[in-house]
Amino acid sequence: MRAPFAVTSLIREGLDKLIPYDAHLYPGVIKLDANENPYPFPEEVSRRIGQLAAGDLLSRYPDSEASELRRAIAAYAGVTPEQVMVGNGSDELILNILLTFGTEGRVLITNPTFSMYKIHSLVAGARPIPVPRRSDFSVDVPALVCYARQPESRVIFICSPNNPTGNASTLEEIESVLQQVSCLVVVDQAYLEFGGEDCVSLLNRYPNLVIMRTFSKAFALAGLRVGYMLANPDVLRQIKKVKQPFNLNSFSQAAARVVLEYRDLFRKQIQDILQQREELWQGLQNIEGVTAYPSVANYILFRTNHESKAIYQGLLEKGILIRRLGGPELPGFLRVSVGTPEENRPFLQALAEVLKQAGRELQ
Ligand SMILES: *Cc1c(COP(=O)(O)O)cnc(C)c1O
Repeated sequence: MRAPFAVTSLIREGLDKLIPYDAHLYPGVIKLDANENPYPFPEEVSRRIGQLAAGDLLSRYPDSEASELRRAIAAYAGVTPEQVMVGNGSDELILNILLTFGTEGRVLITNPTFSMYKIHSLVAGARPIPVPRRSDFSVDVPALVCYARQPESRVIFICSPNNPTGNASTLEEIESVLQQVSCLVVVDQAYLEFGGEDCVSLLNRYPNLVIMRTFSKAFALAGLRVGYMLANPDVLRQIKKVKQPFNLNSFSQAAARVVLEYRDLFRKQIQDILQQREELWQGLQNIEGVTAYPSVANYILFRTNHESKAIYQGLLEKGILIRRLGGPELPGFLRVSVGTPEENRPFLQALAEVLKQAGRELQ
């Protein structure tokens, strides 16, 4: 007699409680939920990328070293190709870092922040430890150092500019952490092209620093999944042990190179996004009952006095998708990505209406 099949009895501890990352698709909405580049993809670049899809690029396995792309990234970031590793989005790199260094250890996460650090910690069998940021969302460096000195602390994640709060850590703060800990310090700079200080200057002095970046945000390539990290070659050699050999497909490797060639076209879009961020910020300030937080990235965190779920739903009913945060750390908080003027205006108008409606229902 066999015992009845019970799927949950086969799942290891940690994975049983994990809630999978849910990314719903809502066709036809104004999409301000994922911090993507909202502008039309430059036609010339799109044509060049389209021409790539032929011959060996399709029929042969990709270059597992991504040599040409790594050379292009190195030139762009101001490092050597040996200091670069590419991934299927930086999401894959987060997982690979944790599979290499995190499993059975403690991972310190400066909350509130990007949710994938915790999710991938659980996937990798590591223990995520929240280290709360201060009320202004800056990193509590002394607390972080204190946690880092406890046994089995292996990896620290600092997102800068931080998603979803929009503030950046200073170079001094990052360096202060690096000076005082011997864990791996991962600084996620997915939004660096919009603001915050570049940490590359610290790379040669601190062998425990890992910088993560992506093509998904400023460079408008979220659909092709290209992320990269900059680190000491000794660290990358260890991570290579867990990396899938063909993790980044040939088409994405080639497309990312083209995007870097045309980076001046994207610079112009980034300038426009920064301009729109200021207008969106002003617009939020002008709506009664909204508290918005300063941002150096391409999204803005804000709060109302109503439940975030009600505001989120109200906006969705008007065809506008933003990000709902909530939870014990960010009660009533929401995040909106900076869109084009044609997207930001209807969002602001809809938000004002939804708030008015919610106010009436309270009376
Ligand atoms: C969007 C985002 C990423 C994910 O980037 P991909 O390269 O698309 O996987 C990483 N970190 C932060 C903080 C992000 O907001």
